[in-house]
Amino acid sequence: MHRNVGDTSCNYEERYYPFSRFLKKKFPFKVYKIPVNAGFTCPNMSGELGSGGCIYCANESFSPNVKERRLSIKEQVKAGKEFLKKRYGAEKFIAYFQSFTNTYADVNVLKERYEQALGEDDIVGISIGTRPDCVSDEVLQLISGYSRKFHTWIEYGLQSMHDRTLIKINRGHLFNDCEDAVNRTKGLGIFICLHVILGLPDEDREDMIKTANAVSTLNIDGLKVHHLYVAKNTALADEYFNGNVKTMSIEEYVPLVVDFLEHIPANVTIQRLMGDTNGKFLISPIWTLSKSKILELIKNEFNRRGTFQGSKCFRLAENNLIQEV
Ligand code: SF4
Repeated sequence: MHRNVGDTSCNYEERYYPFSRFLKKKFPFKVYKIPVNAGFTCPNMSGELGSGGCIYCANESFSPNVKERRLSIKEQVKAGKEFLKKRYGAEKFIAYFQSFTNTYADVNVLKERYEQALGEDDIVGISIGTRPDCVSDEVLQLISGYSRKFHTWIEYGLQSMHDRTLIKINRGHLFNDCEDAVNRTKGLGIFICLHVILGLPDEDREDMIKTANAVSTLNIDGLKVHHLYVAKNTALADEYFNGNVKTMSIEEYVPLVVDFLEHIPANVTIQRLMGDTNGKFLISPIWTLSKSKILELIKNEFNRRGTFQGSKCFRLAENNLIQEV
């Protein structure tokens, strides 16, 4: 099955390859993602793998729709469409199954829930967020089937390539689970996005660059980069108050995220560049700048250096990954 990210990539003006430009190239109309809480749980919370979850996980803090479970999937999609049309002039939509682990159920249950969203008007795509150790081949075949008619993504939480970190943050999976999931997903017509966190406990810049290099080798299509933040009611919050964990200032984060992106292939579209949490759950860091201002600082840092996404990627020469700079 053919899957094509399309022509690459970053240009000097943007310095990295934002998802908005990816979508503009792909669709002749304005496309936005609608977050959906489909009522799944997570094997790292249900007792199957563990019950405490990842140490930073307060799902309600980063899934704004988590309280919307009382709404059906169809109702969430309708409400999301209305909001995005009014706010941004959106025309078509990707249903983003965001909360918890959206492949953690029997395949028939998954099918029924995905198709509730896909059956709504103006839905042109689906994006399914999950853990890399929670996708059977049967589930991948189901999702692959949607790619014939819909723009189809799967998003795997990797967070770090270092097993010692994954153990420390209680992910419940290792790096090779992610490699395995990505390899089994390739060739099925599904776009692959990975999530990583910068600033995890006991990781320094070199560790994070190693994660960027590992991501590069996986030959994926999209990436979400988050900064570590501490939310209320998490094990990470206890560590933070005990002085065992630090968070980053904007001044620390901006050069770090630029370092990271310099090592990511230029044809990987960047879907996110910072963590996003509901303010009432946030303990640290408290960044007072708006998201757009932080993005501007990131671009300014690229400009100052004269570099761009992929400019230090070891795959650059190998695959001629930067074509449009
Ligand atoms: S995999 Fe996701 S939902 Fe599950 S515990 Fe970790 S962060 Fe929370």
